[in-house]
Amino acid sequence: MKAGASLAHLVRPNVAAMTPYSSARSEFSGEASVWLDANENPHDFAWSRYPDPYQQELKAKIAELRGVPADKIVLGNGSDELIDLLIRAFCVPGRDSILTMTPSFGMYKAAAAVADVRVLRTELGPDFAFSAAAAEDDVDAATRLVFLCTPNNPTGNSLTLDQIREVLHSSDNLADAIVVVDEAYIDFSPHPSAVELLAEAENLVVLQTFSKAFGAAGVRLGMGFMSPQIVEILNRIKLPYNVSELTQREALRSLADLGPMRASVAALIAERQRLEAELPGLDAVVQVHPSDANFLLVRFVDSELALKTLLAAGVVVRDRSSQPGCENCLRISVGTAAENSALLDALATVGGAA
Ligand SMILES: *Cc1c(COP(=O)(O)O)cnc(C)c1O
Repeated sequence: MKAGASLAHLVRPNVAAMTPYSSARSEFSGEASVWLDANENPHDFAWSRYPDPYQQELKAKIAELRGVPADKIVLGNGSDELIDLLIRAFCVPGRDSILTMTPSFGMYKAAAAVADVRVLRTELGPDFAFSAAAAEDDVDAATRLVFLCTPNNPTGNSLTLDQIREVLHSSDNLADAIVVVDEAYIDFSPHPSAVELLAEAENLVVLQTFSKAFGAAGVRLGMGFMSPQIVEILNRIKLPYNVSELTQREALRSLADLGPMRASVAALIAERQRLEAELPGLDAVVQVHPSDANFLLVRFVDSELALKTLLAAGVVVRDRSSQPGCENCLRISVGTAAENSALLDALATVGGAA
């Protein structure tokens, strides 16, 4: 998309026209000591007050962490909520489409299905390589969102910033869409974040999450980085109190000391490298796909047999064998050293090709 071009034509007309719901707490900013505006319980309960609808304290900390100004941030109940908001903001049901890489994360398709939005697919090439040129052929004039996932789930490989740039600056339908880069696994990756590209592209949205590296999947906090124009659009349609006070407090607590997160990421990368070294030596394993994330996509001689053996040993992994290009593949999350040893021991009992 050309710099300065308006995103207005991409927004659903009803979203552009609506008057957003205005909560009691979002209308007042200032100092007060008596709060009788929101029908809250005034007694001494731990969580009696509504949370800040715009999570300003938390956004200030995240802004510092990621080097993105707070007015370019939207937070959600997991990045799943942000995916859902993007589809509802930009795609007219029964008419518009999104583009997703195949194979990739299943949530884009699920959220589109609920919204009655068509899903177009761009198949990844050999070694799951993404091609912007192929993607250009796979979109149509009604494509409003392009979902790129890097490192990609379930394949583990990354797009380069140049590949993302190619999509952002392409000249046709592809560039005339919002480009959503899902970076759920970025903290495990040696590649730089696409937030670097926010300055050059108003149609870019970068999604990150507390669910993986931060070890806070139960907290439910997703981060979206985007132009203030898109922030304004998502703020129009989000539920007023979409991020609970418990979530905001817990996220602030984890941001106050990044030591545990960094130590955990380093340990998981070391364990991933151990699995990458040991899995190929097993008779049952055909190939371990390179990964920049905290999981490995592993191709087996017979994934059904491997899955059955693992389950019998009490080890649960994700069957991805029905995904395009993933025949006989299981996706294995990197666990603790002991968990990974249990995985390797169980797989060592599985035979190879007859
Ligand atoms: C795990 C994951 C997420 C995280 O979603 P949350 O709702 O933040 O837990 C997002 N995108 C991808 C690709 C993932 O694998």
